[in-house]
Amino acid sequence: MKYRGSCHCGAVAFEVEGEIASALACNCSICQRKGSLLWFVPREALHLLTPEDASRVYEFNTHRIKHRFCPQCGIHPYAEGTDPKGNRMAAVNIRCLEEVDLAAVPVTHYDGRSI
Ligand SMILES: [Zn+2]
Repeated sequence: MKYRGSCHCGAVAFEVEGEIASALACNCSICQRKGSLLWFVPREALHLLTPEDASRVYEFNTHRIKHRFCPQCGIHPYAEGTDPKGNRMAAVNIRCLEEVDLAAVPVTHYDGRSI
C-alpha cells in the first residue's frame, strides 16, 4: 500500500510504502507533546515529494533522531534515525497520512519516558 502524507500547509509532502500493522504511541518528552502515532519504515520506503530542506530538523538529547517539522505550519510529519543494526529508518506520524482509518490501527504504548 502506498500512502501520501504531508504537513498541514503542504510545504512538506511525501509518499510512503508499506503495511501499517500497528502504530506506536510513546510517552517520551517530545512524543507526548506532539501526540504523534509512529509507524516505523525503512528510510528508503519514504519518498519526499518536496525538497528535503522544506522541513527543519529538531534534535535533542543524544541527537540520534532528526525530528522533521514544517517551519510554516509547525506540524511534525516524520523523523529519521537508525535502528540498532545501523539501518536508516523513518518514523512516520500516521496522523499526517491521507486515507488512514486511525481508529482501526492497533496502538502499542511505548514507555519512552523511562529510557
Ligand atoms: Zn506545513
